[in-house]
Amino acid sequence: MDLTIKEILERDAFTKENIISLLETQGEERTFLFKEAAEIKEKYIGNKVWFRGLIEFSNICSKDCLYCGIRKGNKNLVRYNLSDEEIIAAARFAFTNRYGSIALQSGELESSSVTGRIENLLYKIKELSDGKLGVTLSVGEQEPEVYKRWFDAGAHRYLLRVESTNQSLYNKIHPNDSKHDFNRRLSCLKSLQDIGYQTGTGVMIGLPFQTMDDLAGDLLFMKSFNIDMCGMGPYIEHADTPLIEYSENLMPLKDRFDLTLKMIAIIRIMMRDINIVAATALQAIDPIGREKR
Ligand code: SF4
Repeated sequence: MDLTIKEILERDAFTKENIISLLETQGEERTFLFKEAAEIKEKYIGNKVWFRGLIEFSNICSKDCLYCGIRKGNKNLVRYNLSDEEIIAAARFAFTNRYGSIALQSGELESSSVTGRIENLLYKIKELSDGKLGVTLSVGEQEPEVYKRWFDAGAHRYLLRVESTNQSLYNKIHPNDSKHDFNRRLSCLKSLQDIGYQTGTGVMIGLPFQTMDDLAGDLLFMKSFNIDMCGMGPYIEHADTPLIEYSENLMPLKDRFDLTLKMIAIIRIMMRDINIVAATALQAIDPIGREKR
């Protein structure tokens, strides 16, 4: 029996079919979905937005994800890497201006010198803020020992987006080699959680080959993994990437934007008190895109 949207929203847990129905809502039903999500946010989080100081300290990356503008194979951009002094100055600015936390983000590099550099930066940030400035890391897949060292040095949140939890879609948007291994991504998420990080993940919405079934599966994955943070954004094609070849069949940008808002509304209903990132990719489509979430 087909349930109405109201009946689905009254359920304690959603099936994949329920989520697909919610993703397909239009008109009054869509408004009802957003209203429900807004009420839950008001009740469990309050009318608050937390500012994080995002420090994108380097765009150098050893990987070649097929959708990403800063992939290693893209020669059409200027690479940069902030100095330690610049990163510390940005952290000090955030602390002085009463940001509760910062996020350190970069392309993915794995080496003992990168491990040591980030560890050292974390200790310095702890020292300058007397341990009061929270630090989120988003620097990709690493060995569990590395995650542990950074945790001990003061990072307590980690964002590692899985981008798609359907392995066959994941394989379509990444090179087929050991450096881009779906199972390693999952085991990294598990390590982060085991070490004690507040762990975040998320997906891209509107990818080539992606179906509503995939997106519903992504939400169920995040729920079953019991994530603490979620960062989701629309897929925005980049001219200097291999995936540009599949742009013809993409849904219009405004529909990807709308679908992203629905994904955010549904995860808010499924996981009432988690932190949800207001992704900059939303702002790239709509000048007040982040506020609409
Ligand atoms: S690891 Fe991240 S930064 Fe590097 S290519 Fe993939 S998506 Fe881009």
